[in-house]
Order: sequence, then C-alpha cells, then structure tokens
Amino acid sequence: MNTNYDWIVIGGGITGSSLAYELSLKQLKVLLLEKDTIADNATVYSYGGLAYWSGTTELTRRLSQEGIELHRQLSSELDGDTEFRELDLLLTCPLDHDLKTIAKNYADFAIQPDILDAQQACDLEPLLNPNSVSGALRLPHGHINPQKTAIAYQQAFLRQGGRIIYERADGLLRKGDSIVGVVTDKNTYYSPNTVVCAGGLSRRLLTNAGITSNIFFTHSLLIKTPPTDIKLSTIVMPAIQQRFTLEATAKDLLQGSSWDDYHNESIKSILDAGAVQFLDGSLCLGQISAVATNPGRKLDKRLGENSIRQKISSILPMLSNVPGTCASCLVAFTNQGIAVVGNVKDMAGIYLFNGFTSTLVFAPPLAKHFANWVTGKDSQIIQMINVSS
Ligand SMILES: Cc1cc2nc3c(=O)[nH]c(=O)nc-3n(C[C@H](O)[C@H](O)[C@H](O)COP(=O)(O)OP(=O)(O)OC[C@H]3O[C@@H](n4cnc5c(N)ncnc54)[C@H](O)[C@@H]3O)c2cc1C
Repeated sequence: MNTNYDWIVIGGGITGSSLAYELSLKQLKVLLLEKDTIADNATVYSYGGLAYWSGTTELTRRLSQEGIELHRQLSSELDGDTEFRELDLLLTCPLDHDLKTIAKNYADFAIQPDILDAQQACDLEPLLNPNSVSGALRLPHGHINPQKTAIAYQQAFLRQGGRIIYERADGLLRKGDSIVGVVTDKNTYYSPNTVVCAGGLSRRLLTNAGITSNIFFTHSLLIKTPPTDIKLSTIVMPAIQQRFTLEATAKDLLQGSSWDDYHNESIKSILDAGAVQFLDGSLCLGQISAVATNPGRKLDKRLGENSIRQKISSILPMLSNVPGTCASCLVAFTNQGIAVVGNVKDMAGIYLFNGFTSTLVFAPPLAKHFANWVTGKDSQIIQMINVSS
C-alpha cells in the first residue's frame, strides 16, 4: 500500500490529472492522491474555454499555440473524448461603454477581436438581447468539457501504470529541509518528489507544512443546468471582466489581515455575467467571484443564484429561468505571473503546479514541459516560469 513512488501528485483536477499523466509517460512510478471520489472542484464547474488568443508575451503566445494544438489532438492521444471544438467567444460590451475604447484593452493579444455592433452580435448569438449591449467583441475560442478531459487524462494515466488513491492529503512529511512523503487521513506515502496541484486548497496544505506561497484563491458561485433544448451558439462573457481586477487587488483588499487568518470575515465579490453550453445541452451560467481568506467559508447560494439570474436576464433573457443548481468552488490564482510552477525555494522534494491563469489552455502543455524538466530534458519554459515560491 505505501510503496515508494517516484512522484506523488496531490489533486485530481485538470492540473494534477494532466501532470500525473505526463509524469507517467516518462516511465516514472506516480501516485495521484485525490480527496473526493466524486469530483467537486473548479475543473467540474469550469466553462471549459480555451483562450488561446490571449497571449501577450513570447512565453504566453508560445504556450497558447502549444495548448490549442495539444487540445486539437488530445482526445485521440488519450483515447477519451474531451469534447474539444472551436467556437466563437462573444465578449459583450455594456450600453454605457464605448466598444472601440474597450477593444483597445485587447490590442496586445496575439489575435485581435472583431468589433461587432449590437445587430451583428445578435446575428452571431440570437439569444443575445440587442437592447442590453452596445456591441460585442468576437474572438476564436476553443472549448472542452473540462471534467471529461480530466477523466480522460486519469484513464490514460491508469493505463500507463499510474495509481489513483482517494484519500485526503493532511500533511507533507518533512525530514530536515526535505519533503519525503505525504500523510493522508488513512496512510503515509513515501516519495522523493511531491507536487501540489490541490487548486484553491493548496495554500492551506503548504502553510500547514511551513511553506509560504504566492497561491491565493477566490470563491466562485455559478449555476449548472441539466440539458436544455435552448441553443446557445457562442460562449458569452463580458468584455470587461472584473475577476482579473479582483485578483490583482485581492491581497490589498484584506488590509492589515493575513491570508492565513482563516477567521477573517472580510469579503469582496464581483459578478461577471456569462454563459456556456456543453455538447449535451447543459449550461453553466456564471460567475460570482469572491475573496475571503477562509477556504471553508460558505457563500449564500440563494443570493448568488438570484444575482446571476438577474444579470443573465438582461443579457440572455431566454436563459435566465432555465432550472439549475447553484454550485460553489475555489479557484486558485497567483500574483506572480501566469502560474506557480516549479520547485519550492530552500526545500527539497516539493514542487508546485498551481495558480494558473487560463488554466485549461496553459496547464496541459506546461505539464509536458514539467515532465521534461524533471527528467533532465528541455527545461527552458519551466525556467522562464519558475520563480521558486
Ligand atoms: C465558473 C468557472 C468558469 C471557469 N472558466 C474557465 C475557462 O473558461 N477557461 C479556463 O482556462 N479556466 C476557467 N476556469 C478556471 C479553471 O476551471 C480552474 O483554474 C481549473 O479548473 C483549476 O484546476 P486545478 O486542478 O488547479 O484545481 P481543481 O479543479 O480545484 O482541482 C484541485 C483538486 O485537488 C483536490 N484536493 C484539494 N486538497 C486536497 C488534499 N488535501 N488531498 C487530496 N486532494 C485534494 C480537490 O478535491 C480537487 O479535486 C473557470 C472556473 C470557474 C469556477
């Protein structure tokens, strides 16, 4: 049971599943530890969008290109359907904003958006309320079913000889300045290498082991619906996304308090109204993001659902009353670039693969680079990202 592993991966969302698979392809003996038998994480509740147009630097443009090319063939590589497709992203512009001014915020991206007036936007997305927007930006986007993608990675990982155990990692086993294994609620597992992919719960796991990190998290609220006959043709999101501003200022929002003071009740939330439909006809309507340092904090789902439905009723009126359930999850982010990927400073045996922006497009190619790096090949990309937490 407690056999020695070359690597232990903590967390079976998209980051941990893709990384476990890539490490196993290198003939390494890998254990994936996941606390939940039924996934209830950010990957399950994600829109599934692949923003491969959004690269602004050499690094992000390269990763975006690698990411979209990887996703185009991933179902075949993993022998499991990720439901990949290419479709339009429609970024709605509020009535009181000038579309061309907002479009300037997209000037640095690798692909420039088309600027559509309200009528053109409605021609593309007939569910859009023409009276609610001054227009929209259109971008080519990729789309996957994130949970099916994580499962496809896990299945391929198991076929490679990997092992998945459903236990909660409660602590990292420390010997001097090294992490030598993981203590779960049931067992202790030994390995010279552990990588934390525990999403929004990574920070707590690391803090408990005495490791400081630049990984933070927001609480997210969204509505998941069962399959519906109403057809959404595009992915709809706001052109001005408040989530990024919230993340950028999250540290300052908790003035004078520490992120690791779980009793801090300070909270700030934003709502970016958007919608996406999956291939089975189900919808995800969202999204409220809130900053609160306690990962266990329960947001008011009834209030959240009402706010999301109210905002959706103005932009996509036909979707506002589709029956659905409000769900919540934690979404990790960092204030130090596009992700926290690499080894931990002054501590051997412990690595991070976490806090991504554009996780679904960046994490899969970075998992490949990570596996190359730890097996002594092609470390350039990881060195560009690794700032040793
Ligand atoms: C509504 C919404 C829409 C989104 N849309 C997009 C989008 O369009 N495109 C995009 O790129 N991103 C999007 N995201 C963000 C993206 O979904 C997440 O960044 C990504 O899924 C995070 O993956 P992860 O593996 O890091 O974390 P998670 O999916 O949260 O997985 C972490 C896993 O670790 C496990 N775990 C935690 N602690 C422990 C422990 N102690 N022991 C064992 N297991 C543990 C958890 O159970 C969980 O399964 C969206 C998110 C939300 C909420």
